[in-house]
Amino acid sequence: MDFYSTDQQFMSLALEEAKKAYALGEVPVGAVIVQRGRVISSGYNLRETGKKATAHAELLAIERACEALGGWRLPECTLYVTLEPCPMCAGAIINARIDRVVFGAYDSKAGSCGSVVNLFEMEYNHKPQLEAGVLEEECAELLKSFFKDLRERAQKRKEEAKTLLGESAEEGRCGATAQA
Ligand SMILES: [Zn+2]
Repeated sequence: MDFYSTDQQFMSLALEEAKKAYALGEVPVGAVIVQRGRVISSGYNLRETGKKATAHAELLAIERACEALGGWRLPECTLYVTLEPCPMCAGAIINARIDRVVFGAYDSKAGSCGSVVNLFEMEYNHKPQLEAGVLEEECAELLKSFFKDLRERAQKRKEEAKTLLGESAEEGRCGATAQA
């Protein structure tokens, strides 16, 4: 059996959150916030369900952690997230003064902790520590399988539409024959 480090254990909880998003047809990204070894909040992507551009896993987890701790600062906290944070979430992490961020998969399109840019290395008033690529394979695999499902569903719909179109064309020809 594999030995899981503490970071891997908390990342696997973030993965469980990501799976809740997957079940709703949301891009599967999950996050948990841990303070002194205790999970204080969690969240998963709800952008489609909430019809909100800001409903990212990290932001929802940060909002809940602020409620739980009764303030906008989140001292001695680590945020675990299955996908590299986007610029909005990286900004919220800086604003909440989160000590440490651990992410799983890299995001080459929007990742702002090393992929497109690393906001945590810039001269802002707070610099969180960063750990990248924890359970990277599992986190990336979940996203890959989500997008594969999505493509397959789209392909199936296309084929169904083609069949329907074919049938109505067939009916059209029969109609023409009957008239002649
Ligand atoms: Zn984000």
